[in-house]
Parts: sequence; C-alpha cells; structure tokens
Amino acid sequence: MLLRRGSPEPPAPCARCSRRAAGVRWGDLCPECLAELRRRASPLARIISLVFAGVVIGYAYWRIPLTPATRIWVAAIAVATYFLVRKITTGIAVELMRK
Ligand SMILES: [Zn+2]
Repeated sequence: MLLRRGSPEPPAPCARCSRRAAGVRWGDLCPECLAELRRRASPLARIISLVFAGVVIGYAYWRIPLTPATRIWVAAIAVATYFLVRKITTGIAVELMRK
C-alpha cells in the first residue's frame, strides 16, 4: 500500500493507554487520559491553592494597613492567586502522574 503524499499524519498512540485519538502527537496523552489525570490532581491542587490564597490574605492582614479599597484589592489578588496556583499545580501534578 502506498502512502499518499500530503495526507494528514495518522494519530500517534497515547503515551499511557496506547489508544489512538485524533490530534495526539508522539508522547502526548489522549483526551480521556488527560481528563482523568486532571480529575485526580484536582483535590490536591485545590488544597494547595487555598493555602496560597490564605497566605496572601494573612500577609495583607498583618503587613498592610487595611482600608476598604485595599480590602477589595487583597480579595481580588487572593482570588487570582487561587486560580493561578491551581492551574500551575494541576499542570505539575499531571506531568508527575503521567509516568
Ligand atoms: Zn490515553
């Protein structure tokens, strides 16, 4: 059988379950494995990001004179810290668990 030139590359097998899915490149995980790893990483990432958000609030409480305006800023920064740390921790946990 001849390979047609210009045809799209066939999908590579998933690095974890060896299932072939569209858009998976060599060494990548299929969408099902990625979703499962993210689901397993979620509770840990939630706890770590809550701790980091608490540290931000604690730092502001003890180190910054709090006015109504700074309270709003601290709340916004704590929420932003929560989501940012959660995204980073989930990414790290997925990378560590994929092996
Ligand atoms: Zn897979």
